[in-house]
Amino acid sequence: MKHLIRKEFLEQGYVFATRAAEIARAAGHTRPARLASNENPYPPSPKAIKAAEDVLPHTNRYPDETNRAFIDALKERHGEYHFVASVGMDGIIDTVIRTIISDGDRVAVATPTYSYYGLAVQAQGGVTVSVPRKADFSVDPHAFCRDAAGTKLAFLCTPNNPTGTTETTETIAAICENYEGILFLDCAYIEFDETDYRPLMEKYENLIIGRTMSKAYSLAGLRVGYSFVPAWYEPIYHRAATPFTLNMVSQAAAAAALEDTDHVERIVTMVKEWRKRFMDECPYPVVPGGANYVMVDVAPGRADDMVTELAQKGVIVRSCASFPGLPEHYIRVSIGEPWENEAFLTAIRELYQP
Ligand SMILES: *Cc1c(COP(=O)(O)O)cnc(C)c1O
Repeated sequence: MKHLIRKEFLEQGYVFATRAAEIARAAGHTRPARLASNENPYPPSPKAIKAAEDVLPHTNRYPDETNRAFIDALKERHGEYHFVASVGMDGIIDTVIRTIISDGDRVAVATPTYSYYGLAVQAQGGVTVSVPRKADFSVDPHAFCRDAAGTKLAFLCTPNNPTGTTETTETIAAICENYEGILFLDCAYIEFDETDYRPLMEKYENLIIGRTMSKAYSLAGLRVGYSFVPAWYEPIYHRAATPFTLNMVSQAAAAAALEDTDHVERIVTMVKEWRKRFMDECPYPVVPGGANYVMVDVAPGRADDMVTELAQKGVIVRSCASFPGLPEHYIRVSIGEPWENEAFLTAIRELYQP
């Protein structure tokens, strides 16, 4: 029956980091340091857990299709912007692409970056145009607009996954001014950085800012993402979305998590302290970044070898060799619990070869 399937889905999809976990297990590490997925090592806010439990008895009903509780909490937190919410930011990325891209349409992606944009564009019949970042992994707005000319949609991730690089608001404003398509700014890790792009929403009609509850808010398992969207675009988005996006449990938890600002602040403070320690104490160069992970240059070694050697020492990190546009000597290390971070620093010092 496979001849019935579109060719886009007959090949490799999203790459999960499972190999390193297997190596660690085979080496006898029953509880390895898990620093490959940029998750939050800490459980969600107790208020979020309580809110989720409270709605469980009511799940015989469909959820509120307007996601009112969560949208209200977003307005409380950020102000009177226009928001949409979905099953992870990945769900929003899918729906945004669906509203804009049809067969053969071109989409610009500032590369190297998160791989899901390309997969989602392909699924919609679109064509990805890679727009290379500069050698320091930042984006030059002038070169970006030149290379992205003629595309309808562009993805730019800041802080970028996997490099950690954060763009200034001036760079993003310059792109919004000069790019004729819609810019999707992926801010999955923005809570770990000081930059604030929100005011740009008041000025630009071609900007969408994607955010997630999966990282700083510890709700990866509940799948909640949201976006700041221009007013004109909000009703269009809803026409393309599935009728019920957030489920009752994840919506209740996400609304409560947003309100628990102390919880997220504690986590952000801890991440920033460890990011500084990784920069200062890792024997290999660390790319300056604003996320809850760092990218480390292990040259002249190879990323895949370093991942294997770290896994043998019970530390699971991500090789960046699978990110198109990156040379094969970078690894990405999430900031985890203190014992996991210490385990990484100890292991990488042991493996360091100048
Ligand atoms: C984790 C991640 C997402 C997806 O987040 P979900 O809300 O869990 O779907 C989107 N973009 C980037 C860059 C990410 O790292």
